[in-house]
Amino acid sequence: MLVEDLPRAAQTFAEPVLAWRAWALSTDRNFTEPRLHPVIGSPRPWPPLEPARATCRRLRPHPVPDVGCTCGLHAVLQPGALRWTRDPVVVGTVALWGRLVEHERGYRAEFGYPQRLRLVCRLCFWQRDVAGSVPDVVARMRGGRVLPLCLEHLELAHRYGFPTPTLAPARKVEQALLCAYAVDLLGADAPSAGGMRRPADAARVTAGG
Ligand SMILES: [Zn+2]
Ligand SMILES: [Zn+2]
Repeated sequence: MLVEDLPRAAQTFAEPVLAWRAWALSTDRNFTEPRLHPVIGSPRPWPPLEPARATCRRLRPHPVPDVGCTCGLHAVLQPGALRWTRDPVVVGTVALWGRLVEHERGYRAEFGYPQRLRLVCRLCFWQRDVAGSVPDVVARMRGGRVLPLCLEHLELAHRYGFPTPTLAPARKVEQALLCAYAVDLLGADAPSAGGMRRPADAARVTAGG
């Protein structure tokens, strides 16, 4: 989970709110139909060209996301916080709207759609930032999950006997991803611009929950 500090109230936002997020990625054998997935939780992909909508798997029905739950599409204000995400493969900005629960470090949202995306070598990303994590190749693992690696870390993976059965150029897969979701590439220097600001109070429509 990305945001787990104490939540503030749930509110509904008229305008989309921008935040940072990391995803996992899957693809078909030809690397032509990449799909974004949550890094943990639901195995369902974020659908291309339509908003992702949060659901809750708890039995007791409640509005999603709920202050007292962990449901919702998670996103953070500072890109640096994504380095602690488990298995980040795609990093980028995301528009969030509908019902939002605000946390000190980010949000849980009802609806979301990616804005700008970039593949990262996760080993580089853990050590550095987005700009210093440009992958060279993408390995397609069993089950279709994708692992982007720079050449240095591909060599390391091979040295330790980590299987990378099918490889494709990272730029090709990244381009297919941007095409599928009709979004732009996240500039390599973008994260240096820092975190997202919270919207002004005027943008909040209703308060509740
Ligand atoms: Zn819930
Ligand atoms: Zn690397």
